[in-house]
Amino acid sequence: KNSPNYISEPFARHQTVGVDVGGVLVGGGGDVVVQSMTNTDTADIDATVAQVAALHKAGSEIVRITVDKDEAAAAVPKIRERLERLGLDIPLVGDFHYIGHKLLADHPACAEALAKYRINPGNVGFREKRDRQFTDIIEMANRYEKPVRIGVNWGSLDQELLTRLMDKNQEDGFPMTAQQVMREAIVQSALISAELAEQIGMPRERIILSAKVSQVQDLIAVYTDLAKRSNHALHLGLTEAGMGSKGIVASSAALGILLQQGIGDTIRISLTPEPNGDRTREVQVAQELLQTMGFRQFVPVVAACPGCGRTTSTGFQELAKKIEGDLRKNMPIWRTKYPGVEALKVAVMGCIVNGPGESKHADIGISLPGTDESPAAPVFVDGKKTATLRGDNIAGDFENMVADYIEA
Ligand code: SF4
Repeated sequence: KNSPNYISEPFARHQTVGVDVGGVLVGGGGDVVVQSMTNTDTADIDATVAQVAALHKAGSEIVRITVDKDEAAAAVPKIRERLERLGLDIPLVGDFHYIGHKLLADHPACAEALAKYRINPGNVGFREKRDRQFTDIIEMANRYEKPVRIGVNWGSLDQELLTRLMDKNQEDGFPMTAQQVMREAIVQSALISAELAEQIGMPRERIILSAKVSQVQDLIAVYTDLAKRSNHALHLGLTEAGMGSKGIVASSAALGILLQQGIGDTIRISLTPEPNGDRTREVQVAQELLQTMGFRQFVPVVAACPGCGRTTSTGFQELAKKIEGDLRKNMPIWRTKYPGVEALKVAVMGCIVNGPGESKHADIGISLPGTDESPAAPVFVDGKKTATLRGDNIAGDFENMVADYIEA
């Protein structure tokens, strides 16, 4: 089944050691978890609570917050408390760089309130200092029994390690390209750090690894290699994926290929936020990626055709958009409410060429009349034609039928 030629269904999941992140299982054969990150100043408690709540409502199962200074560390337990008062039990991950060891030592309430610590081994100092500071964070995590993510990032890669590997490559007569050396340094940085953490006494059940880069082919190569060389739970994400459609396409291409190979236990889609500041878009994209690949079910699906010269108007696109919006609003995260149940599928098609066929495969579907058709719209429910809508209110009548179907 794992033959590279076998591409018609996903490979078996890469077996990893499961990690409990504040009650959410990452790895160990569990569902691929959706997570995201705030972009508020964590010291601004109101703004951070509001954004964590919005991300959670959109479907983020874990949320990471920046902990970069004393004020931020002091705010963390208050943020946790406020979220609990709102009835939101969402694991918060602290994103530490440079002085994480100090912040965790100086703010025990922060260390306790977080569900996981993220450490970047590329920016905790050099040589002995790096090992000491890295050790301090791991020991802190051991004391509070918290898991960690050892998050290597190409932008802050351990330069000593990279230089050592480049020198070795030169001594050996350049068997590897510069790009291959870079990829190897990223993988080694993650693996060496994980080994060090285990030597300090951290069990593998509390270690997640990530190795983020910004190029799709590099990301696929690095994670494929990482999965071959370890069984740690893996957090996937393309860093600096970019704005708008570029970021969505790049992340979906890279993560989709890895997920299809069974690699990845949790994903974050890093999108540059829209000018309106809506951070929840990345959660929606992550859910849609997992749902569209058939790994998880989150929200009802509206299948709509692209439209062509046979459509009489843009009415069917408006109807599809409206129904999708209504379903997202009225039907909360599917899996939470109906575990194991497939998401509802509604088809809204522009004519009868492909309309009835698509409608039969949906739970409920309509084919609006095309240019050369009589003004009638056949509706299929559970694969059978149950009505033909006519008149001026076809869209409204269909919306009512969808509402009745959901009610039933
Ligand atoms: Fe065009 Fe009809 Fe196909 Fe929609 S279903 S793209 S309107 S031919």
